[in-house]
Amino acid sequence: MARNIVVIGGGPAAVFAAIEAKKRDATANVTLVTEEACEPYEKPPLSKAVLLGKANPEDAPIAGPGGLAKHGIAVRLGTRCTLIDRAARQAVTTGGALPYDALVIATGSLMRELPLLPMGMPRVHYLRTEAHARAIKAGLAGCKHLVVIGAGLIGLEVAASAAGQGIEVTVIEFAPRIMARACDEETGELILAEHRHHGVDFDLGASVTQVTEQLDGSIALETSDGELYVADVVVVGTGVKPDDALALAAGLDVQDGIVVDAQCRTSDPDIFAAGDVTRFSTPQGTVRLENWRHAQDHGAVAGRNAAGTSDSYNAVPSYWTEQYDLYIQGVGWPDPSAQKVRRPLPDKRALLLEIKDGVISYALGINAQRDLAAVRRLIERGIPVDAEALADPAKPFNAMLKAKA
Ligand SMILES: Cc1cc2nc3c(=O)[nH]c(=O)nc-3n(C[C@H](O)[C@H](O)[C@H](O)COP(=O)(O)OP(=O)(O)OC[C@H]3O[C@@H](n4cnc5c(N)ncnc54)[C@H](O)[C@@H]3O)c2cc1C
Repeated sequence: MARNIVVIGGGPAAVFAAIEAKKRDATANVTLVTEEACEPYEKPPLSKAVLLGKANPEDAPIAGPGGLAKHGIAVRLGTRCTLIDRAARQAVTTGGALPYDALVIATGSLMRELPLLPMGMPRVHYLRTEAHARAIKAGLAGCKHLVVIGAGLIGLEVAASAAGQGIEVTVIEFAPRIMARACDEETGELILAEHRHHGVDFDLGASVTQVTEQLDGSIALETSDGELYVADVVVVGTGVKPDDALALAAGLDVQDGIVVDAQCRTSDPDIFAAGDVTRFSTPQGTVRLENWRHAQDHGAVAGRNAAGTSDSYNAVPSYWTEQYDLYIQGVGWPDPSAQKVRRPLPDKRALLLEIKDGVISYALGINAQRDLAAVRRLIERGIPVDAEALADPAKPFNAMLKAKA
């Protein structure tokens, strides 16, 4: 009899899980349930091209032209899964119960809300969905001064998009430096300089202590270092947390993220999970990753295994962010104890390499996509490297690839 595979979620992890499950078992009934009203779309453009008016979310369906239906997958749009009934093996949704033989949870992340700037407050925005991006774009249309809370990837991308439209932008960040989680101090300084070059003002090492709605609708924000900013629009980008409530209520092992093994299996062998919502073991300890490529690759493994294979996830993680004409990309596992090597590159380019136990463990580049593609292969293949050669731009990475692991 045909198996029922149900996938909960509408992001890349869910879409790739559904597509791969159907590819592995063409006879299976694969159903994807997403609470969003539209075909799953790519999120990265939301803080970049969509805000700049250069793209629409519907232009980029994750499943490609024709959407999920073209892959033979049934899609329940605008449908929320409210309960996983493990005893009855059913996903209970707002559109009825769906029986499953295998289930994939790919519910992604929820935004971290600042109590002083709650979601729903007029002129205050958070960014996760296409509806949020449209609301921010509309808000920016008449905006003179935008305040962004948080100098992480999303906050800085929004700042760059707004500055590019001639809007005065102030970024307030709790940490003493920008992108503290994603990059080293020196690379952070290069990115900060680019923002300042575009007129963005930064208040680092500060937090918002008081918020007052003014009579004209603008918002006054007081900070811990005694500054006062009056904003027409505020965008909060203070990070995300795993949307793991369904799994927790179902009694699965959840520890700030759904715990999965290398096959993306949860503590219930018939239930898999993938993407932002999961926590899994790596040589660096247990981690959660919040980036596109991980979600896509992890989802693909979960989908294949839900369809009966036994693949393991061992991809090298990577993220990217685009700010002005800077394409910033990290590949691998950053480690504070690793040896750091800088490869000098001309123009607005930079490349930092980390070496651990004789191999590259992490690389972070600005406008260095071609170099990073080769470095990714060096990392994936565990090829031994020499720090002096890495620091010498005359020594091509492709030649190093020919060495044996
Ligand atoms: C604005 C923005 C820009 C980004 N830019 C980049 C970038 O440049 N580079 C990069 O690497 N990463 C970027 N990311 C991060 C990347 O998009 C995420 O890591 C990725 O989308 C995670 O995929 P996911 O499938 O795990 O979860 P999500 O994409 O979060 O998808 C989860 C989906 O599940 C749905 N859902 C949740 N609960 C239920 C339920 N109970 N029933 C039904 N549906 C449910 C949600 O509505 C959502 O559609 C960006 C994210 C955002 C928001």
